[in-house]
Amino acid sequence: MLLSKQKKPLGLYIHIPFCKSKCEYCDFCSFVPNGTSVIEHYTDALILQMEDWADRCRSYEIDSVFFGGGTPTFLDSKHLLRILNAMYDNFHVTKKAEITVECNPATADFKSLRRLRRAGVNRLSLGLQSANENELAALGRIHSFKDFQNSYEDARRAGFENISVDLMYGIPEQTEKSFAHTLSAVTSLGPDHISLYALKIENNTPFAQKKDTLNLPDDDAVYNMYVKAVQYLAAKGYDRYEISNFAKQGAACLHNLKYWHCDEYLGLGASAHSYFGGERFATTRRVKDYIDGMEIINNDIKVVVESDKIDSHESMEEYVMLGMRLDEGVNIHDFEQRFGVSFVEKYGKLLDEYIDDGFVKKDDESYSFTTDGMFVSNFILSSVLDLDSDSPDSEN
Ligand code: SF4
Repeated sequence: MLLSKQKKPLGLYIHIPFCKSKCEYCDFCSFVPNGTSVIEHYTDALILQMEDWADRCRSYEIDSVFFGGGTPTFLDSKHLLRILNAMYDNFHVTKKAEITVECNPATADFKSLRRLRRAGVNRLSLGLQSANENELAALGRIHSFKDFQNSYEDARRAGFENISVDLMYGIPEQTEKSFAHTLSAVTSLGPDHISLYALKIENNTPFAQKKDTLNLPDDDAVYNMYVKAVQYLAAKGYDRYEISNFAKQGAACLHNLKYWHCDEYLGLGASAHSYFGGERFATTRRVKDYIDGMEIINNDIKVVVESDKIDSHESMEEYVMLGMRLDEGVNIHDFEQRFGVSFVEKYGKLLDEYIDDGFVKKDDESYSFTTDGMFVSNFILSSVLDLDSDSPDSEN
């Protein structure tokens, strides 16, 4: 009997760089398109890139897909369905694959959500950020809380059984009380997953330019928001499984877990990052270069702008940096099996210094952060791993 060779698991990230309008804090690769022609060309370019990668992915099966942005649902269903169909044509996507689409309230109606659900999308990530209108306005969001409620209900009616909601803390106009209101309003709807990110003011954003005039909560208030949110969400049945991510039982995001477990993933589209075949690489953030590079064979246009073979020291550092983000932390036996090096000898002794202060905990199996440790995790990891760091837990 001929045994079929076992395929390796792979995550697929697809970047859609379009938004209806630009939020004031955002430095993601996204822009407001001028007309539909760029959307047509971008869709064509994504499909060409899938065709290019199809052969190299024959020995893989895709078990998670994440459409991020930008705002993927800014594309109409026609374009999203073309991309989804090309994905099914070019890759082996498992029947049980988690397929997530990020969606902004006010960019998708019931019909388009139902089309996505029928096309195999089974997880929706709704960007809300706050349930308070003055905070949404300060962020430059295009939707109200009511818009979010409508989208949430439409998504449930369209058959989405797995919905995540993105929230932010430490944002202008926010107080501990108003943040508590956001948490209460969102959990009362019963989403399956909540992501909670601290605002980080990025260079080259409108927020950076008017930083001194923003009415931001102070550091103590921001710390209290995070600590109280962890307690509140736990009481509502949401386990924190990563610094910024909380899930009901069985609803942790499988795609994002790949990043934190250092598993392989392929990123398609402008600004997408990949970890594939022991190499990390990223495509250009310049959407025009990406489209031209895919449509025209021209060696002057660089689609892949960063590429790095990861050596074993870098691999270990990444594994610790990403693994320590998880509530379960780094398993010392898994680490030793993967790298043939003692975790306790290499990193454990340095992390031990933070145990007495209540930032790190350990047992016979693993090292992990406490809640206080998670809040200052970047600082601790930068001392242990010699990495640069400028603020606690900010990735948004
Ligand atoms: S935060 Fe999201 S919705 Fe707002 S501009 Fe950035 S990518 Fe678009």
